[in-house]
Amino acid sequence: MLGSAVVVGGGIGGLSTAVALQRRSWQVTVFERRPALSESGAGITLWPNALRALDALGIGTRIRGLGLAQSSGGMRDSDGRWLVRTDTAALAKRFGDGIIVLQRSELLTALRQACTDIDVRVSTEVRGVDANGTVTLGSGDRMQSDVVVGADGVWSVARQAVWPDAAVRSTGMLAARLVGRVGDPASVEGGESWGAGDYAGVAPLPDGRFYAYLVVPVTAEVPTEADAALCWWQRRFSRWHAPFPELLANLEPSQLLCNEIFELKQLPTLAHGRVALVGDAAHAMTPNLGQGACQALEDAVELGSALGVPGGVDVMHKLAVYNKRRLARVHKIARRSHSAGLAASLRGRVPTSIRNTVVRALPAAATMRAFDTVVDWHPPLD
Ligand SMILES: Cc1cc2nc3c(=O)[nH]c(=O)nc-3n(C[C@H](O)[C@H](O)[C@H](O)COP(=O)(O)OP(=O)(O)OC[C@H]3O[C@@H](n4cnc5c(N)ncnc54)[C@H](O)[C@@H]3O)c2cc1C
Repeated sequence: MLGSAVVVGGGIGGLSTAVALQRRSWQVTVFERRPALSESGAGITLWPNALRALDALGIGTRIRGLGLAQSSGGMRDSDGRWLVRTDTAALAKRFGDGIIVLQRSELLTALRQACTDIDVRVSTEVRGVDANGTVTLGSGDRMQSDVVVGADGVWSVARQAVWPDAAVRSTGMLAARLVGRVGDPASVEGGESWGAGDYAGVAPLPDGRFYAYLVVPVTAEVPTEADAALCWWQRRFSRWHAPFPELLANLEPSQLLCNEIFELKQLPTLAHGRVALVGDAAHAMTPNLGQGACQALEDAVELGSALGVPGGVDVMHKLAVYNKRRLARVHKIARRSHSAGLAASLRGRVPTSIRNTVVRALPAAATMRAFDTVVDWHPPLD
């Protein structure tokens, strides 16, 4: 064994990091506070960078088989008129993979099954982490390890040990996510649609159903009670283009997952002492580029690579290498995601019509090049 690691959090970031460390001969324990490893949140989009990370974790082929490569993408207005279309075939050619959409629960199950040699403890809350590698559990028990990985999401407890002054802020937007059916699946093209303040996206899943998300300002005051909330979303999107009204009409109230969207103010470092942060604990970003989980998967591979170096180099040095490899990239992607969120949620008839005109005028080559910074990541060669 190269060392021992505790991973706080059993979400996509935590389990992928556990797999990466296991592959590097680390002894890993995962603490997850929920009673089961489960992911709500309907579907998830994985870009080619995430698929490369999953290849490095040994489950890329499996995930490609569980997901559906998207044959359509781009931006529309709320009436369904295309502003810009993504040439998905050209994208797949450029990056060696398409964009895959699958159920989150399937991604999490695949990651869990890859944790063949890992002690995963559910219903185990971590109450505190210190920079020397001590984790204090909710029960009061303590555990010491060579490295602690904070993978405990946007409200991370582990982050206290790295950067106690971190600020989480609301984007002012609230998302509803769902998986549903429509009468004529062949008529639906995937993509994102922008209104004036609200936006929505839809993507086909392999089983004929659709993953969709709908986003509105928090000031719209969505009811909290499930039946009333569903009626509210149905009314709000009733005049939008297909398939949003039909997807909402066919839904049960319990199938709608609503949550406010938060982002993390950029941290000056992702590691301190024996603690490293991955995923939303390190860089919770807006969902507008579909990169939050993709970046968590990259983090996992990069951390595994940095900690996988055998021999005399000390752990703190290895974590500094991880920080150096990741910090600028995650900051850049979070910034771009934030800007994309501002564009998508723009309000007012005049600003949105100017936005739409500008987007319509973008040359296809420029939109394709814009993906480069985001997608062009490869696992380190070591
Ligand atoms: C509307 C929306 C759509 C999105 N769509 C996409 C997309 O298409 N593609 C994409 O790549 N990303 C997307 N994202 C972002 C993505 O969901 C997140 O970036 C990703 O889930 C982060 O994973 P994580 O493991 O870091 O954190 P989390 O998923 O938050 O997992 C943290 C885990 O830690 C556990 N935990 C927390 N505190 C403790 C504690 N004290 N002790 C023990 N356990 C603890 C939690 O229970 C949880 O299981 C989207 C986000 C939103 C809001």
